[in-house]
Amino acid sequence: TQFKELNLIDPIQNALDALGYQTPTPIQEQAIPPILQGRDVLGCAQTGTGKTAAFAIPILQLLEERKKQNPKKSIKALIVTPTRELTIQIEESFQDYGKNLNLKHAVIFGGVKQTPQVGKLRNGVDILVATPGRLLDLIDQKIISLRDIELFVLDEADRMLDMGFIHDIKKLLKILPQKKQSLFFSATMPKPIMELANSILHNPIKVEV
Ligand code: AMP
Repeated sequence: TQFKELNLIDPIQNALDALGYQTPTPIQEQAIPPILQGRDVLGCAQTGTGKTAAFAIPILQLLEERKKQNPKKSIKALIVTPTRELTIQIEESFQDYGKNLNLKHAVIFGGVKQTPQVGKLRNGVDILVATPGRLLDLIDQKIISLRDIELFVLDEADRMLDMGFIHDIKKLLKILPQKKQSLFFSATMPKPIMELANSILHNPIKVEV
């Protein structure tokens, strides 16, 4: 399979061409079509398998296609990940694959002053990449609203649990809208992770690489 066979819109296909991506990795080949169809996905994959593009590419495409129906600037896709480094890497992926689109993205993570991060949010973003603690903090302060979230990604779920974020994740799940598409990625799937996945996902496609 080539990217050309995945029916990506021209701005994204052109961005991938410019990056020299021709062949999707196995997780991309398996995950991109069902995500584009609106399905929930349970992905068992490590970093280095191309999992970021596996969710970033279809999220960009879905948001771009829906922009005509819903031009309102509000956070429509939320990606939650355990570390600052991962938030930055993921935002770079959205930038790379979405460089021909007009979708706005931002990152938030703890351990630094919130002011610069908040400034960017005020201009309106479509895609937010966040660590759980700072995210909840900004929700409490009413700086962030999750009311319009259509797509939710929980990335590196096992590391999230190892780092003690389970309570934050459960809190977040209560705030998120019921009706949304959810994507759940973890390198390993021990019982607590499966239970968390089952509490989030509806009839998911399972992808393992
Ligand atoms: P990830 O597993 O998401 O951290 O991606 C690992 C690395 O592979 C990143 O540096 C990507 O830029 C690169 N990459 C992802 N998908 C592809 C692809 N289909 N073709 C070539 N490189 C890729």
